[in-house]
Amino acid sequence: MTKPVFTNPETLALHGGSHRADPTTGSVAVPIHQTTSFQFQDTGHAARLFGLAELGNIYTRLMNPTTDVLETRIAAMEGGVAALAVASGQSATSFAVMNLCEAGDNIVSSTDLYGGTWNLFANTFKAFGIEVRFVDPADPEGFARATDARTRCYYAETLPNPKLQVFPIAEVAAIGRKQGVPLIMDNTAAPVICKPLALGAAVVMHSTTKYIGGHGTSIGGIIVDGGNFDWEAGGSRFPTLNNPDPSYHGVVWTQAVKPLGPIAYILKMRTTLLRDLGAAMAPFNAFMFIQGLETLPLRMERHCANALKVAAHLSAHPKVAKVIHPSVQTGEAKRRAEAALKGGMGALLGFELKGGLEAGQAFINALQMFYHVANIGDARSLAIHPASTTHSQLSVEDQASTGVTPGYVRLSIGIEHIDDILADLDQALDKV
Ligand code: PLP
Repeated sequence: MTKPVFTNPETLALHGGSHRADPTTGSVAVPIHQTTSFQFQDTGHAARLFGLAELGNIYTRLMNPTTDVLETRIAAMEGGVAALAVASGQSATSFAVMNLCEAGDNIVSSTDLYGGTWNLFANTFKAFGIEVRFVDPADPEGFARATDARTRCYYAETLPNPKLQVFPIAEVAAIGRKQGVPLIMDNTAAPVICKPLALGAAVVMHSTTKYIGGHGTSIGGIIVDGGNFDWEAGGSRFPTLNNPDPSYHGVVWTQAVKPLGPIAYILKMRTTLLRDLGAAMAPFNAFMFIQGLETLPLRMERHCANALKVAAHLSAHPKVAKVIHPSVQTGEAKRRAEAALKGGMGALLGFELKGGLEAGQAFINALQMFYHVANIGDARSLAIHPASTTHSQLSVEDQASTGVTPGYVRLSIGIEHIDDILADLDQALDKV
């Protein structure tokens, strides 16, 4: 029986991808295939799998049937053609870039990044000989100006904190397509509400650790291939995809995938980077993310609705100097948010306390329901004071350039009842 084609996120989250029921047992829930290896039918079958004449299970470092359901389901939800799940969001970012770059190459990245990505780009990639050119997303043309013949991709986050100004996805994707450069989007903070591939991005990645999991139990990441970028036409800009690959008996990835569809980028990542660097997602964690995914569209609705109410509430509070959330932005920032986000403005929210550093710390210490953690995207509400934690190694000036002032508090609004969220914020504000 063929599966109907669904397009609505609520349905895709439950029915999208490769799974209907387990062919052996009829199990409706996706089984956890907690195995390292898979028995070949015969030597011909084994040879076909290794030769990529047939796609199938070999060894769990390379692929796994539980993980495959997560990959095909998220690919469907993002509107891509295929995906690769990996051990963390950090490894997803690393793989997304390293798949295209060799020493001596460069990429152009937005300055507005998660701190872990910043470190990876500014220090670890630099040590590998990959240069990252940082560009202020306020001026999308900066991406074109920073591009040269060895620029392999552009990189940005949909809704980067602490500034929470939505990245101009369509503009930079269009600039990239004119230059023959693909845009890779970290969509961790905006699953369901933003579809970067539909806006012209070529690749999307997520830290599944955040909203996709939602329960805060597992670390993971995923890269989705949009199948919408012509790597072959890019010729010498993409040597890793268009030149013979000595690590896979001289295969040229853009040619080898022709019978399989436009999956050169993601297949090369699986068969070389995942094979060699080994950052595989555990099948149990893939199962946990599938559980999270089932309610993701519903949760995002509630996350976003709650955040909207918190933004309005804090905007009217006498101890709050400023609220940072797309719903209260004006001008170009608001235009960008409205162009890229549909069905919600996200659930990350910042606010500045008039009392500065001491007020920020006192507020955090007074919270009773919000968890004080360095995380986002949990079903529970979370809070942190960046100036004394995540950004404490930076000078006050450098903190300010990233958008962190001494009194800045970052909230990740959860799905609890809005009355309880506001009550906890109010009683903590009373103690400031
Ligand atoms: N991207 C963003 C936007 C993040 O917030 C994070 C983690 O906080 C990551 C990537 C890295 O993900 P992970 O912690 O799963 O490695």
